[in-house]
Amino acid sequence: MSVSSSLSTLAVALAEAASAAQVQAALAASFPGGLSRPAAGPEEREALEVAAALVGAALARVEAQGEARVARRELEARQAEGAALQARFDALFNAAPVGIAAGRRDGTLVRANDAYLDLLGFTREEFQAGAVNWVELTPPEFTEVDWDALRRAIGDGRAVRYEKEMRHRSGERIAQEVTLLPQWEVPEAVGVAYVRDLRPERAAALGHALELQARGEELERLNAELAARTEALERFAELSRDLALERDPLVLVGRAQEIAVSLMPGSVCTYYEPQGGLWSLRSHRGEFRQPELLARLRSGLTRGEALNVDRPFETLAPYYQDTFDPATVRSAGGSISVIRTTASFPVRTGARPRGVLVVGRHDQRAWTPAEKTLLETVVFNLQLALERAEQSGELQRRALALERSNAELERFAFVASHDLQEPLRSVTSFAQLLVKRFGGLEGDPKAAQYLRHIQEGTQRMQNLIQDLLTYARVTAEPRPPARQDTNAVAATALQDLRASLDATGAVVTVFDLPPVMADGTQLRQLLQNLIGNAVKYRHPDRPPVVTVTGEQRGPWVQIDVHDNGIGIPSEYHERIFTVFQRLHARDQYGGTGVGLTIARRIVERHGGQLWVSSDGSNGSTFHLTLPAATD
Ligand code: ADP
Repeated sequence: MSVSSSLSTLAVALAEAASAAQVQAALAASFPGGLSRPAAGPEEREALEVAAALVGAALARVEAQGEARVARRELEARQAEGAALQARFDALFNAAPVGIAAGRRDGTLVRANDAYLDLLGFTREEFQAGAVNWVELTPPEFTEVDWDALRRAIGDGRAVRYEKEMRHRSGERIAQEVTLLPQWEVPEAVGVAYVRDLRPERAAALGHALELQARGEELERLNAELAARTEALERFAELSRDLALERDPLVLVGRAQEIAVSLMPGSVCTYYEPQGGLWSLRSHRGEFRQPELLARLRSGLTRGEALNVDRPFETLAPYYQDTFDPATVRSAGGSISVIRTTASFPVRTGARPRGVLVVGRHDQRAWTPAEKTLLETVVFNLQLALERAEQSGELQRRALALERSNAELERFAFVASHDLQEPLRSVTSFAQLLVKRFGGLEGDPKAAQYLRHIQEGTQRMQNLIQDLLTYARVTAEPRPPARQDTNAVAATALQDLRASLDATGAVVTVFDLPPVMADGTQLRQLLQNLIGNAVKYRHPDRPPVVTVTGEQRGPWVQIDVHDNGIGIPSEYHERIFTVFQRLHARDQYGGTGVGLTIARRIVERHGGQLWVSSDGSNGSTFHLTLPAATD
């Protein structure tokens, strides 16, 4: 092989050599004897020098190539590291719960995390395509807010926090809190914004506000209910003012119906009571738009087939049909379908239901709580009125019955005393006849004693009958009261008592007594009775001293009869006015026990009162009032 061909083989081999060893191998292959050949001619030497230069160049290239590879590997490693860092950063960036974006002044974004894009409704692809522009997405009224924040952030070099709104892609406004940082590693960005969605917070606040509002509404409802109740009450009070004496239940029901209809304009109100197998219409108010309906109702509804009436009567609770079903009151016929809404209430007195009140409306509307309250209040008041009427009716019935039996008793006492006097008189005269006939019966002391007993007994009986008769006459033979000179009447009473006054040495002083309106005979009887008792029940140790005083007090004259007698223990202060009630044995103090009963009856007949005061031992004072005489 010639030197020149070896040289070209070497050049080719060296061009492909990628390492020092390959250079070495290429040299060895082309120049097996090496490059140092002392015996070489000038031409060969030159070729060998070229070969050496080629090898040197190849070695230098190979070395450079090796260095470049290492550098590239290093670069690649760094690049991989950087990418990993970037990925980690992106992951953190995107996972942040707040939206983060770095933006430019023109509104374009350098960076934006998922939360930011989500908040505004954009995809990452759209962002990458440049579709998200924070300036454009900010409503104009917030533009200045942004620039102001930016100026402050840049000026202070610190984060600025403020609130603003942005428009979601859908157009919805999104309230947000922005924390703006002036610097960012991306040079062309003016700042980076951390954005927090304020909507959940605002919604919570709104929820709270709504709750407050709901509470307010509830309060309003309660208020309306209260107002309704008051209104119903007022109406009822107004209408029932003249009903205080009304005892006819149907008049009361009618009034309640008038109230119901006036409170629910355009309604009709019916009231039913059970009658055999029917609900009988007892009262109705309001304008029936279907006259035929009223005619049907008048002929009665079948019990058990009129839900509106049956149910409240059975359950004793109100029954509301917001949408009235005509099929539930079959017996009323088709005309009832003009009624669209109903409310029915049991009407009871005590525990007993007596009927059912039904309110029907011609328009379909659900009953409001206030309306329910209103109607329930009306029914409640109706029940109270009915109960009151029932009670006062009962009271009046009893008073009447009492009056009747009193009158009968008086008649009986009158007739009986009259009729008893006759046989008594004959017993008395026969006893006297016997005395006359048998000459005083001296020879037979027993017979004389019996006869005395008979005489005493008949005398007592006569007194009793006389007193009863007087008692009965107080009301049986009334005379109209007239002006009486009380002093003159008292003087005649004293005249009648003269004998007993003289016998006992009584001192009776009558002070000036105002004139009264009274039945003269009864007034004399009254004074005689009281003064007589004052003397009769004298103390054994002192002569009787009696004073009679009088004083006008408004329309009344009070007369006091005071004595220094035995007095009356307080426990008997009422009992002594009861007929036949006496505190002493007959042989101690005579009497029938009717006198004070008559006295009280006389006073009460005149509208006055009679009572006693006494400490039980130092005399008694009988007080009485009679109407003062009018001039
Ligand atoms: P009578 O005098 O016929 O017994 P009254 O009806 O007049 O019946 O009186 C009833 C009772 O009241 C008398 O029995 C007597 O006990 C008592 N009484 C009445 N007046 C007096 C008086 N002035 N002082 C004490 N007791 C009296």
